Amino acid sequence: MSIEVIKSTSRGPGALLEGPHWDPVTQTLLYVDIYSGKVHRYTPATDSVENVDVGEFVGAVVPTSSGKTIIAGRHHYAFLDWKTGSLIKIAEVDADKPDNRFNDGKCDPMGRFWAGTLGESGESPDKAVPVKPKQGSLFCLHSDHTVTKHVENVDISNGLAWTSDHKTMYYIDSIAGGVDAFDYNNTTGALSSRRRVIKVPFEEESLPDGMAIDEEGMLWVASYGKSRINRYNPATGKKLQMLTFPATNVTSCCFGGPNYDILYVTTSSFQLTFDQPLAGSIFAVKDLGVKGLPANVYQD
Ligand code: ZN
Repeated sequence: MSIEVIKSTSRGPGALLEGPHWDPVTQTLLYVDIYSGKVHRYTPATDSVENVDVGEFVGAVVPTSSGKTIIAGRHHYAFLDWKTGSLIKIAEVDADKPDNRFNDGKCDPMGRFWAGTLGESGESPDKAVPVKPKQGSLFCLHSDHTVTKHVENVDISNGLAWTSDHKTMYYIDSIAGGVDAFDYNNTTGALSSRRRVIKVPFEEESLPDGMAIDEEGMLWVASYGKSRINRYNPATGKKLQMLTFPATNVTSCCFGGPNYDILYVTTSSFQLTFDQPLAGSIFAVKDLGVKGLPANVYQD
């Protein structure tokens, strides 16, 4: 196994890189920098990164089936014009909660775009968890642009993953200290029977953040604050493997590359009170011995 840092990605103080998504059509890695309001696209073939300023906080980005790009911006789902950064807003969430913003998001096997929110506290970012508790929700954008709300009283809505049989959805609310599973109705998107499948104690792992699922159904969960990604078996809750990175705040990961055998990892320099040169970089983990599966896109 080897861990490489992708040096050409833009970094800087306060970079909160998140939401990596491998696009097989363009063979690129999409990801966001939440507080700078930028969507990035990394091309491994040329080791180059382009970015576009969308003019507001951005929590997640995914391609669509028709070749467009859609984001979960501050309060809206919106189509993004890569050339100008302009947004065509298609649905609003949390209109009654002005301090909320979208955080992590991902598409389900039917091509609906799930993304959750959190309540910004407006407090100093050096506070461990600068959010207003229980203000967030988990939303789902359907192909007809309607939005349904599925989970309420969320602290920090984060990682999402679906099993390859489409019967289970995994979900992380970071403050809740674990990974939960729901029975998943792939036809309607309905969730039921929420239960805790992996305990992630704060003292050991800090905050569970984004996650990816591999071809064996195991979950790779970022520990924000502990420099690592852990691989867990959701059937037993056991930790199977740990990868460590030279960046304290590891935010998320996804499988990519032509064969889905590279784990791309996003990190953050946001909230760091000390200099850490590689914080806010993207890392590529190769020769892991396990592959991922293609990520879902928004069906438009
Ligand atoms: Zn996250």
